Amino acid sequence: MDCLFCKIAGGDIPGDIVHQDDEVVAFRDIAPQAPHHIVIIPRRHIATVNDLDEASHALVGRLFLVARNIAAELGVAEDGYRLVMNCNSHGGQTVFHIHLHLLAGRAMGWPPG
Ligand code: AMP
Ligand code: ZN
Repeated sequence: MDCLFCKIAGGDIPGDIVHQDDEVVAFRDIAPQAPHHIVIIPRRHIATVNDLDEASHALVGRLFLVARNIAAELGVAEDGYRLVMNCNSHGGQTVFHIHLHLLAGRAMGWPPG
């Protein structure tokens, strides 16, 4: 499958990986939007949030647990951080393999652009 994030998860394209296990891989975003910007993905290819189903709901929960653990490791849990998952064009999704953005290290604005 011609998917950038599947290739990073599979080791075919290098990534600055900060966590990996049987189900989830996390790596530093190539164009960071905050002092810490980590992308957390399932190894399983799921294109968008619209493609989630009952079989994938536990996997989505794992993405959040990994995000929580990385935030603690980065030392940003107390100050806080933002978790974002973009969907399709209006959501600003550019890579069609679901991913949770972990943004931290500065105060975030609201509403997002
Ligand atoms: P989104 O716009 O929500 O689909 O997020 C895709 C993210 O992937 C963007 O923040 C990109 O900067 C990031 N990205 C694209 N290519 C790479 C790459 N090779 N390694 C790490 N992050 C990437
Ligand atoms: Zn993929």
